[in-house]
Amino acid sequence: MNTLKLNNEQKIPLQGFGTWRLEKDTAKQSVLDAIKTGYRHIDCASVYGNEKEVGEGIQEAISSGLVKRKDLFVTGKLWNTDHAPKDVARACRKTLNDLQLDYLDLYLIHWAVAFKSGDDIEPLDENGLAILSPVPLQDTWRAMEELVHDGKVKSIGVANYTASHIIDLLSYAKVKPVVNQIEVHPYHNQKAMIDFCASQNIAITAYSPLSSSDNPVLKDKVILKIAENHSKTAAQISLRWALQRGVTAIPKSSTLSRIQENYDISDFALTNEEKTQINDLNRNMITCNPIGWWGFPYF
Ligand code: NDP
Repeated sequence: MNTLKLNNEQKIPLQGFGTWRLEKDTAKQSVLDAIKTGYRHIDCASVYGNEKEVGEGIQEAISSGLVKRKDLFVTGKLWNTDHAPKDVARACRKTLNDLQLDYLDLYLIHWAVAFKSGDDIEPLDENGLAILSPVPLQDTWRAMEELVHDGKVKSIGVANYTASHIIDLLSYAKVKPVVNQIEVHPYHNQKAMIDFCASQNIAITAYSPLSSSDNPVLKDKVILKIAENHSKTAAQISLRWALQRGVTAIPKSSTLSRIQENYDISDFALTNEEKTQINDLNRNMITCNPIGWWGFPYF
């Protein structure tokens, strides 16, 4: 199991399992399949709406003796409607209850934007614009730091933070963020952000490492040619490329054969020339772009 040491000495497995869009009726089995396959890092979020089912998979893996809790690395994420300091501990408690855990290994601020609090997870006005809430990110971070002090979470970090967000965060963080979870795949290699975060000792987790549900990267001729050279699949090449960059990747699949395929990337290595060819595919393609959901240019 390849791991990466975070800036607080905690170790994160480089190969993780994503849970966004796992359907409620199959999520438990997929998580169990992932743990049986060897994944020890599970990426969750309350907004995915499946934490109960994901938690059932984790629980079954633990109670059947497949794995011990201490050998798993479980990430949760604070949703935008829960940024107010009074809501942070409650949101974390709900995630812990749903996942049937008594601590998280990592808790992330999911997006650097606070929405109106309440049950509507994407409150929009009549023009389709997200209804915001005047909560400074600094106040949210203070409440995240409390969770570390209270032992509810081992580490805290962020997701979808731009360089400016991180520069600001580092000016007030008493507990440093360990991770920035961002979109990374061969069509969005994020070199500058990865280098910047490395300079601040912040690790990167690559979300949508297979370029998400349409998977354009998996049809790319260069990737397919490299895959053929190694008798591997395009998905395995994309994930191996992330691994060799020292970036944690969290592919999602609800298909057993793909869960296994995505994990099976340790018996080959990309050459420097192949890595360069993949790096050159960059086109800053964003699949996860909030402008379509919340009506403003986040990135
Ligand atoms: P991925 O890049 O992981 O791609 C998932 C898609 O690829 C699914 O449609 C899956 O289909 C398919 N797939 C998986 N493996 C293979 C394979 N070997 N060959 C062909 N197709 C394959 O996209 P996600 O957007 O799900 O990102 C991964 C995870 O990252 C999420 O699940 C979530 O945990 C996290 N994430 C975090 C975000 C954030 O804001 N912090 C945003 C987006 C994602 P099938 O399931 O049918 O096999």
